[in-house]
Amino acid sequence: MCEHGLVTGEIDDDHPKEACGVFGVYGPGMPVAHLTFDGLYALQHRGQESAGMAVSDGDTITIVKDMGLVTNVFDDRTLAPLKGHLAIGHTRYSTTGSSTWRNAQPVYREPGESGFALGHNGNLTNTAALAAEAGMLPGTVASDSDLVAELIAACFPPDGDGRSDGRDLERALVQVLPRLEGAFSFVLMDAGHLIGVRDPNGFRPLCLGKLDSGWVLASETPALDVIGAHFVREIDPGEMIVIDATGWRSEHPFPQNRVNPKLCIFELVYIARPDSHLYGKEVHGARRRMGELLAEQAPVEADMVMGVPESGVPAAEGYAKRSGIPYGQGLVKNRYIGRTFIAPTQEMRSRAVNRKLNPLRENIRGKRVVVVDDSIVRGTTQRAIVRMLREVGASEVHVRITSPPYKWPCFYGVDTGTRAELLAANMSVGEIQDYLGVDSLAYLSLENLERAIEAPGAGFCSACLTGEYPTAAPVNFTKGVLEELKPQRA
Ligand code: SF4
Repeated sequence: MCEHGLVTGEIDDDHPKEACGVFGVYGPGMPVAHLTFDGLYALQHRGQESAGMAVSDGDTITIVKDMGLVTNVFDDRTLAPLKGHLAIGHTRYSTTGSSTWRNAQPVYREPGESGFALGHNGNLTNTAALAAEAGMLPGTVASDSDLVAELIAACFPPDGDGRSDGRDLERALVQVLPRLEGAFSFVLMDAGHLIGVRDPNGFRPLCLGKLDSGWVLASETPALDVIGAHFVREIDPGEMIVIDATGWRSEHPFPQNRVNPKLCIFELVYIARPDSHLYGKEVHGARRRMGELLAEQAPVEADMVMGVPESGVPAAEGYAKRSGIPYGQGLVKNRYIGRTFIAPTQEMRSRAVNRKLNPLRENIRGKRVVVVDDSIVRGTTQRAIVRMLREVGASEVHVRITSPPYKWPCFYGVDTGTRAELLAANMSVGEIQDYLGVDSLAYLSLENLERAIEAPGAGFCSACLTGEYPTAAPVNFTKGVLEELKPQRA
């Protein structure tokens, strides 16, 4: 379930669409498939299109994946036969390649005698160039993750046997990883090894945990908590962790001059769970402080502060605390909303908001309310919420956003559509205020956003707010980049 109560991003036009969730466990004697299920369930908010896992018993790697939520794909019947000591798992939201079964992960390849599986969170920015370099015909690979698996497979020795010394996958990665650009947190496995990799900018999170008799890799720390693993540390940008029967070791396959930490700042604003820890900080506390600083930066006279459930709630509490205006609940989220259709018209998309959020009339009637939310992408949801609040009698509506205006598309694994679709790219704050129909509108400054995170010296990507991309940005990037490839060979 994503934080706004949706199980798909389809009707939520107003927030960045989540990236993907990855998980891996090396646990001899442990029910690794069930642990992976629990880990993926804790990461469900990061992607709801498809889910899958690969399990190794030391000889065979078995993959189960399908479209839908983790609970749609796995049940006792599907988990029971998945026996082994090692597994990886994935929940997907597509940012390169379409939302189809073929693109569900883990991706599997069997070069020579050995097989390996890969799960990817992030988005490569040189997909087309890599595919062209490799001379791939259109249709050969369906996603950037598929392309990476293909490149890795091509680096295996012709008759290699990854089980002999366990180094074929690792050696192939050392050759392929430096060629990749953009965002990637990978989990990979062969029959006997679990590997985690974070790109040199560390756009997407990845952490290492310890079980009594094993090790865990996960996009976010709650996936460790849920299976009783202890947090060891975040994987460093540019680091590769290899886990096997001897424990874990750290490798650094990227040139040092490429390592430049740039964690996605939206992980803290919206994407990550509030109980996640990033850069050593609990996300919930950071969101509260965003609200506190927003109250200092953009005060307003009002009777009640309310948050848009759920990621706006901690910030609303912070705004209320710092401003002295009472916090109150103004919207109730439908907890049971299921997969919905893609609303074909703007009016239907606006109505779709009513399916997930309803106003608490008595709390709102006659009041001047401050509505705190994390971001505005297209504005559809916020506009519908404002209309809803006015209909039930709010006398004034003031919107406060815990991030600066979202003006630039993301190429690093968060889907926000094109620049033309971003409200703040095409309207001034005053125009957005009019469009939403609010009495006032204010955004948290980038400086205050970084202050709220309280991780001095930590590097962040904020390209969607500033237009300053940490890597060369593929300005013409689309999800269908691979279909658009021109044939490279006759
Ligand atoms: S561009 Fe924005 S959403 Fe994308 S990684 Fe950077 S901060 Fe995150």
